[in-house]
Amino acid sequence: MTWETVIGLETHVELATKTKIFCSCTTEFGGAPNTHCCPVCMGMPGTLPVLNEKVVELAATAGLALNCAITPVSRFDRKNYFYPDLPKAYQISQLYLPIARDGAVDIGNGKTIRIHELHMEEDAGKLVHDPWLDQTMADYNRCGVPLIEIVTEPDFRSAEEVIAYLEKLKETLQYLGVSDCKMQEGSLRCDVNLSVRPAGSAEFGTRTEMKNLNSFKAISRAIVYEARRQIELLEEGKRVVQETRRWDENKDATYAMRSKENAQDYRYFPDPDLPPVELSQEYLDHLKDSLPELAESKRARYQTDWGLPTYDAQMITSQKALADFFEALVDLGADPKQGANWIMGEVLGQLSAHGMEAKDMALTPPTLARLIALVKEGKVNRNTAVKVFEAVFETDGDVDAYVKEHGLEQVSDAGLVQSVVDQVLAANEKSVADFKSGKEKAFGFLVGQVMRQLKGQAAPAVVNQVLRERLEQTAE
Ligand SMILES: [Zn+2]
Repeated sequence: MTWETVIGLETHVELATKTKIFCSCTTEFGGAPNTHCCPVCMGMPGTLPVLNEKVVELAATAGLALNCAITPVSRFDRKNYFYPDLPKAYQISQLYLPIARDGAVDIGNGKTIRIHELHMEEDAGKLVHDPWLDQTMADYNRCGVPLIEIVTEPDFRSAEEVIAYLEKLKETLQYLGVSDCKMQEGSLRCDVNLSVRPAGSAEFGTRTEMKNLNSFKAISRAIVYEARRQIELLEEGKRVVQETRRWDENKDATYAMRSKENAQDYRYFPDPDLPPVELSQEYLDHLKDSLPELAESKRARYQTDWGLPTYDAQMITSQKALADFFEALVDLGADPKQGANWIMGEVLGQLSAHGMEAKDMALTPPTLARLIALVKEGKVNRNTAVKVFEAVFETDGDVDAYVKEHGLEQVSDAGLVQSVVDQVLAANEKSVADFKSGKEKAFGFLVGQVMRQLKGQAAPAVVNQVLRERLEQTAE
């Protein structure tokens, strides 16, 4: 029998606000345990939550960009459960009236994934188990960090489709400034709901849920493993149990964690401490008008307006900071293809050498634009420019000053080049003879010798021209 895998995704994304969703504690990642909390996010009796307006703005912005309908009046509900990482013993979330519903994400190859809903909620704390002391410690720094949860319909049929969706989602949210989506810091994590059914069947099989997957690699491998596990069970005539399973990356397997809860188990009810969130049409229109240009549109524009190859457009839009940098370069007068080459070669090379992301780089567009201009004006050659680039990269140094200080100006003085050429020709009679007997390779060698004498700072075109003239003169 042929089987079909059916997958739905719940993605939790930490929002890029400075402060938490219901108090003014910082959302900064890291920090000593229990230093980023207060009575509100620790759930002390008698405290009251105050909604952070920025959370609503970012959630609604994400909803609009994912083609959702925004709910004009949404509400917060309490999801009650007891667990040591949740000092209030309830999580404030949205069940009955989420802020956005019914969206769609195009993942390419003609496939669209429907978004069931997008809602706002608060994150829980973290439990750290110390195997040495055999103790578990609670860190409440993450309690109350704002999240959006994006729930899809069960529209995926393979791990590849899930990854394509997540890449698109990540890119979109980063471009919007909604989240940094750093998976290694848990800013984006997924719960995968998966079932299998005979191909062509209209009914869904029994599904399992794998929680808190936080790398693309773990997500794809967990999907492949879990689909195979379910198919094997069914082929042996057994049944799949609806439950939550944990993916163990080291063992490459999933394990049963607990039987799946239903919404009733959480005793959801509207939070009495928070008023409904009312969004006016003007406010939503304003958000819609201020949506930034997304990567897909930039890629198309770079190709049509500036003639960049698809590959270049793809590379440059892979990080928003890189695309912003590139556009600033072009605005400063750099040739788009030249600018793209510098970004894809030297900029990405230095970033990876320093283990940095584009958004953290000190180098500014005017510095690189000036360097590109120096090459264009013939002040330095391309090889020297790369050296200058490497020298100024970390501090965004002054390229003109660096060139001057290190005497890197290109020698295009024909008189000087000529005297060096004469010296080289006199010292390399054999190569001259080789050239005259038709060995073009000897010419390259002579160019190399002249360049070396001039410490690589000569304009290659000038060297070529003078050398050829001289060789022709002596041939006569
Ligand atoms: Zn707090």
